Amino acid sequence: MTRENVVAVRMGGPAEVGASEAPKAAAPEGRPSRAEAEAAVRTLIRWAGDDPDREGLLSTPDRVVRSYEEFFAGYVQDPVEILQRTFEETDGYDEVVALRGIRIESYCEHHMVPIIGVAHVAYLPRSRVVGISKLARVVEAFSKRLQIQEKLTSQIANAIEEVLQPKGVAVVIEAEHQCMSTRGVHKPGVSMVTSRMLGEFRHNPTLRREFLTLIGNPAGF
Ligand SMILES: [Zn+2]
Repeated sequence: MTRENVVAVRMGGPAEVGASEAPKAAAPEGRPSRAEAEAAVRTLIRWAGDDPDREGLLSTPDRVVRSYEEFFAGYVQDPVEILQRTFEETDGYDEVVALRGIRIESYCEHHMVPIIGVAHVAYLPRSRVVGISKLARVVEAFSKRLQIQEKLTSQIANAIEEVLQPKGVAVVIEAEHQCMSTRGVHKPGVSMVTSRMLGEFRHNPTLRREFLTLIGNPAGF
């Protein structure tokens, strides 16, 4: 991931999808059984041109389905609930709280292949602060779903804004999309950078610069 290779930058602007529209912590209606999911994997193996009954592939449908439980664990996590527990005894702390370089493992909703990168998350507390691990868990809850990076960025920022109601929220994500590196145009080493700035991070250039400097200014703003 180099600065020269940044392909897209998104700064502020209205979100297309708010946290309120994000999938909540419930499996969709009519969820198929595990056996049906395994049968679907067998079909894909056959379609790829291999034999799901050969020894090396016998347990593969089971393993793939288990992997999917990990890849898509976010569907059963509720970001609002994660952020609910806050602390008010901050002795007047009123500066930026930032978490830098949170690893992102997400999955492109168009090709179902990994999106790997990092998220930087910051907020300017109004009165309440949240445990820092909770910010990382919110990133995970939205990442472990079928996503596009723009929506992922907005959902994280919007959820923090809605629940903590801070003076501002900033989220920057830099990620490599395997649908671009291992298929299609085959361009490895290209990172996509997206950002969503709310409240004071959007309106106060000094604060925004402070945050971007803190995270190493990935987009060269
Ligand atoms: Zn894709």
